[in-house]
Amino acid sequence: MNIEPTHPTIKNPPEQFAGDVWFDPITVPHDDDQRMVVGLVRFAPGARTAWHSHARGQYLRVTGGVGRFGTRDGEIVEVHPGQTLYTPPGQEHWHASAAGTFMEHLAMFENADDPAVTTSWLEHITDDDYRGAAASTPS
Ligand code: MN
Repeated sequence: MNIEPTHPTIKNPPEQFAGDVWFDPITVPHDDDQRMVVGLVRFAPGARTAWHSHARGQYLRVTGGVGRFGTRDGEIVEVHPGQTLYTPPGQEHWHASAAGTFMEHLAMFENADDPAVTTSWLEHITDDDYRGAAASTPS
């Protein structure tokens, strides 16, 4: 056994995040048959992800602040420290901090067989998406 190396904090890219969001890797796979990835993610007030989905789903444990999470049906779930949100495989969603507060969560998910498709990134969310005012029409 070993103490894992400490990774530098990564500033998440603007193509996929609006506002300042930082990522600290906690676990990354050692071997080809390992899938588990855990990271600590910190959102500045009002910062948000773009729409995205995870091939094998995701668990999000809020550890600080107030989180907002949205899906395509316009539902917004507000999540507080000590609560864990689950998003099933393939469900398009976004993560954000509530206005006026930082938000910190642990992100836990498993890599896809091809790690390049573990997370599928889409377009940025709109302010209406963030407010929960605009449920998209199913096509
Ligand atoms: Mn996600």
